[in-house]
Amino acid sequence: MPTFDTLLREVRARITEIDVATLERELGDGVKPALVDVREPDENAQGMIPSTVHIPRGFLELRIERAVPNRETPVVLYCQSGTRSLLAARSLAELGYTNVRSLAGGFTGWKRAGLAWEQPLVLRPDQEARYSRHTLIPEVGVAGQLKLLGAKVLCIGAGGLGSPSSMYLAAAGVGTIGLVDDDMVDASNLQRQILHATERVGIPKVDSAEQTLRGLNPDVKVGKHQTRITSANAIELVRGYDVIVDGADNFPTRYLVNDVALRLGKPVVHASIFRFEGQITVFPANGSPCYRCLYPQPPPPEEAPSCAEAGVLGVLPGIMGVLQATEAIKLILGVGDVLAGRLIVYDALKTRFRELKLRRDPKCPTCGDGVDRSTIPLIDYEQFCAGPRH
Ligand SMILES: [Zn+2]
Repeated sequence: MPTFDTLLREVRARITEIDVATLERELGDGVKPALVDVREPDENAQGMIPSTVHIPRGFLELRIERAVPNRETPVVLYCQSGTRSLLAARSLAELGYTNVRSLAGGFTGWKRAGLAWEQPLVLRPDQEARYSRHTLIPEVGVAGQLKLLGAKVLCIGAGGLGSPSSMYLAAAGVGTIGLVDDDMVDASNLQRQILHATERVGIPKVDSAEQTLRGLNPDVKVGKHQTRITSANAIELVRGYDVIVDGADNFPTRYLVNDVALRLGKPVVHASIFRFEGQITVFPANGSPCYRCLYPQPPPPEEAPSCAEAGVLGVLPGIMGVLQATEAIKLILGVGDVLAGRLIVYDALKTRFRELKLRRDPKCPTCGDGVDRSTIPLIDYEQFCAGPRH
């Protein structure tokens, strides 16, 4: 029976070790090795070498093929002091990896040499529990959840569409949710605006929304903007956010949101509702198409439906707002096919979803050929729909 020391000597004779200075030089080169931290999660959480893949020793053989599919790729393993990574390197060599080295001195040696290291972003234990049904999905994972937690979404309107969209975004762990709304909660809102509550009638919608969203998920920062979006404040309002969810109930706001989003290069998830019918599409950050590709100018006031008389089935904004939240989350995660260039029309009476193609207009005034987007004018069209919000 060999002792541990003899075993280690045998492994050392077969596995090449690399010192910290050489590793640092190689990481700076064009052809850098795949760097794998084989320590336990609590050790990795204390700090790691930048551009590391973390695979705890116990999972190394199971997960290495996904992290390093090509067995010819140079791999460097490290642990805390250089022993566990040496034994792990032997296992990878047995798996057919032809160029595996172990970092002599491990992470401790790297830190002692004064080389750069970083604190990995990890979920807190309470977040691991809260978001476990997300992190179990390969397309989301911990990395995706961290993206959501770092994301900032601006909801235009805390009404019918803004209620379900902001609530699902909050539940999903989108870290910052901004709400633009200057209204107070009214009894006639409660048939569909589920952010609000009977005992909060009369208080500002942004305050009522904050209570609901923070109650749902204390991870969420709520940006309260108790105002209407206008040409004077639009850039300031939108600048700090990654995605805009447009739940506006009027044409002037839709044009303004389109124009400011193109100026700042932000994607817009657009939806609208009327009686039993809802529509949703995504206008990508670069337009192509944008709202003005479809409707270059606002309709004359006499052709616009009056919001006060329009009416809407209470559950309809629920469906459309949840679709908006879904598209916003896909945009943040960078997964799937978002609704860019496609318009979904939902008919609640017939329970039918139709999909229409939307085309970019090369003559579009805001995203057409040759348009300098930094000079797109911001216009306050006349407010011809002053009735209560959807
Ligand atoms: Zn356009």
